[in-house]
Amino acid sequence: MKSITDDRNTQIFNVDACTRCGECFHQCPELSLPIDVAKQEIESLINGNEGRYVLSLCTTCRSCNHFCPHDCKPYQLILERWNDLYNKRGAPYIYRFVCPTMDLNIWQLLDMFLTLEEKNWINDWMTRKPSGDVLLIGNYVHLLPFVIGGSRLLDYFTPVDLLDHWECGAYLYQGGYLDVVRRIGEKCRDDFQGWGVKTIVPLIDAVHWMITDVLPKEMNTPQDFKVVNFHQWLLEKIDQHEIQITHPLSLRVTVHDNCYSKAGGGQYWDPPREILKRTGCEIVEMEHIRECSLCCGFGAGASWTRPIHILFDIMHVAEKKIKEAEATGADAMVSYCGGCLYLLWTARELFGSKLDIYHIVEIQRMAMGEKLNYPKDHVRRAWDLIAIISYIMILSLFGSSFRIKEIALDKSPWRPRRFVLLKLIRKALGVPIIQTVYKKIFQVMVPLMKTKQK
Ligand code: SF4
Ligand code: SF4
Repeated sequence: MKSITDDRNTQIFNVDACTRCGECFHQCPELSLPIDVAKQEIESLINGNEGRYVLSLCTTCRSCNHFCPHDCKPYQLILERWNDLYNKRGAPYIYRFVCPTMDLNIWQLLDMFLTLEEKNWINDWMTRKPSGDVLLIGNYVHLLPFVIGGSRLLDYFTPVDLLDHWECGAYLYQGGYLDVVRRIGEKCRDDFQGWGVKTIVPLIDAVHWMITDVLPKEMNTPQDFKVVNFHQWLLEKIDQHEIQITHPLSLRVTVHDNCYSKAGGGQYWDPPREILKRTGCEIVEMEHIRECSLCCGFGAGASWTRPIHILFDIMHVAEKKIKEAEATGADAMVSYCGGCLYLLWTARELFGSKLDIYHIVEIQRMAMGEKLNYPKDHVRRAWDLIAIISYIMILSLFGSSFRIKEIALDKSPWRPRRFVLLKLIRKALGVPIIQTVYKKIFQVMVPLMKTKQK
């Protein structure tokens, strides 16, 4: 097996304890490989080879770590193999989409579609001097600023939104870009320490886990300051009656457990459910929850061994999730991760689902009597993002793979551009008949273009 670099070495796949039993990939909710195939696959990955299925079909949901009877961390083995592929081939062109320091990234392209109110919120969050208790808004909610923009919840914090924190490396970690994540970890640590603030509260569990576990234990970048989990914080404020539930909801909701919620020995699953109960919601669970939860689709983009299939793989996985949520008969699905939320909304629109999908913060805000422009804001943003994704897909036909060099954004990171084609696509997708035809084409394409299962 290829040795792990000295820079990341304390929380890795335990090759000596692995019995090659194959249970990890056999029980995998996405692949469910026959046991013999699962055994061959683990052997292949251990030997430093690509294998046949896992590297191209894994949705990086991290469930396999829970299935291993010897706590070997097979998920970390997958990440190492993806890191090998990145070092060998670079990242596919379409991945620049999520790299804020690359031209043509999602935040740059979305900027032209933000409302004035959204721009004002974001500008405030990106330019505030961090002090006191800092709320890390993060790269995902930056795409959906209306989720928390204008809320009284922000009065408790200094909201800070720095795109070149890359969600503390969370989504690159899932793609196996481990060497890049270590550099991001160093930048975040230096920034946080330089701020000298009291407490850091990441809005999502993924970033909480990165700061408290992955960066110090796997990337050798200890983070020496107080970090508080947002859902724990909110639950305490509700229970201490500092935050009042003045408008209890009578919604039946189902809860989407994101991939990072499976880290941390289960600490992330219950607080969001407790918050929902406090707001008056009744919870009906999906077939796959907690350690077995299905991916929102986002993680399917990590298996980028066949770049042309990425978008269709993502949407295929997202459709499965939406169907499972619909099958519960719940009024709405609630996500406690902003990354899953924008992906699920995009899929909802493309597949024509009627399921309501909320961020947990939106549920909390409604229970506090705050008014939302729901679902209009989400629908509008979903089509903005569909236009951007379509645009990047077209460009990716002519683009080549790349390496992530820059971690930090300078003052004016993106060249001023007109993006005429993107604007035309967005305008066209605003016409109902074109939108309908686009959805139909997409629904036909997904089963044809997704990476074939075993
Ligand atoms: S991370 Fe999830 S999808 Fe990937 S192999 Fe493990 S269980 Fe399967
Ligand atoms: S990682 Fe664990 S579950 Fe997977 S083959 Fe090894 S021992 Fe079995």
